[in-house]
Amino acid sequence: ARRSETNKYMFYGEHMNSDAKNFLLMENKLLKAIKNEEFIVFYQPYFNLRTHELEGIEALVRWEDKESGIISPGIFIPILEETGLIKEVGRQIIKIVCRQLRQWLDQGYEVVPVAINLSPVQFRSSTLLKDIMEAVEEYELNPNLIVFEITESTFMQDIAATYEVLREMKNAGFTISIDDFGTGYSSLSYLKKFPVDHLKIDLSFIRDITKDTDDKAIVNAIISMAHHLNLKTIAEGIEEEEQLRELFYLQCDIGQGYYWSRPVPAHKVESFLKYDLRN
Ligand code: C2E
Ligand code: CA
Ligand code: CA
Ligand code: CA
Repeated sequence: ARRSETNKYMFYGEHMNSDAKNFLLMENKLLKAIKNEEFIVFYQPYFNLRTHELEGIEALVRWEDKESGIISPGIFIPILEETGLIKEVGRQIIKIVCRQLRQWLDQGYEVVPVAINLSPVQFRSSTLLKDIMEAVEEYELNPNLIVFEITESTFMQDIAATYEVLREMKNAGFTISIDDFGTGYSSLSYLKKFPVDHLKIDLSFIRDITKDTDDKAIVNAIISMAHHLNLKTIAEGIEEEEQLRELFYLQCDIGQGYYWSRPVPAHKVESFLKYDLRN
C-alpha cells in the first residue's frame, strides 16, 4: 500500500472496496473543483400566491465538470459534508450570490431577497458568521436581501449553539427559513423559541396534495400552526395549476416550483426581475 500525498486517511490497497475507491476519486475531483472554482449557482424564483409578485429567489448550487457537464447537488453535497469540504464550497456559494446581487443592483434591477441553503456541517463552522459578514460588506449589501435556509436537523445538534448563531443572524438583519419542514423529527417547540421567519413545506407533501387527503391535512395543519406563530409558509415543488389552487385555498403564502420555473442560470432568472424606476 502507498500513502497518498493528498489524502490523509488512506492506503490504496487490494482489499479496498470500490465504494471507498470511488469516494476517494470523487473527493480528489472535488478538491480540484474547489481550487478551480467550478461550482456555479442556479436560481429558482418563488412567488406570493395572493399577489403573484416575485417574493424571492433560491440559490441552488451546481458543479460544472468539464467531462460530465452540469452535476446536481444530490450527487456531491453528501460527499462535501462528509469530508467537511462543504465549508469551503459554502463560502464560495455565499460569495457568488453576493456578487450576483451586487451586479443586479448596479444594473438597476429591483432585487428581491436571495435564499442560500446552509448545510448543518457548514452551520457549525466557527467562521460562518465572519464569512457571511465579509461577503455582505465586500459587496455592500443590506442583509435584508439574504435569506438562510436551514433544515430541521441543524436544530437537533447543539441547540444552544444553534440558537446563538440564529440570534446573531437575525440581529444582523438576515431572514431565516426552515427547509424541508415536516421531514425531520424535531420537536415543534423550537419553532416558538427560535428566531425563524419562514417555513418551507417539503415537496413530498405537495406532490399528491390534490389526491391524498392525508397530505392535504398535514399541509393544512402546518400552515395554520405557522400562521399562529407568525411564520410565513412556502410550498416547494408546485408543478401543476391544481396544486397551486389547493395551496391558495389552504392560505399558503408563497409558492415555488417548476410550474413557474426550474432553477436557471442567473441571466435567465433576470426575466422575473423588474427595473427599479427610482434609478
Ligand atoms: P432543497 O433545498 O430542498 O431544494 C429543492 C430542490 O427541489 C432543488 O433540487 C430544486 O431544483 C428541486 N425542485 C424545485 N422545484 C421543483 C418541482 O416543482 N418539482 C420537483 N420535483 N423538484 C423541484 P436541487 O437543485 O437538485 O437541490 C437538491 C438539494 O441539494 C437541495 O434541496 C439542498 O438540500 C441541496 N443544495 C442545493 N444547493 C445547495 C447549496 O448551495 N448549499 C447546500 N448546503 N445545499 C444545497
Ligand atoms: Ca432549500
Ligand atoms: Ca426543501
Ligand atoms: Ca430537500
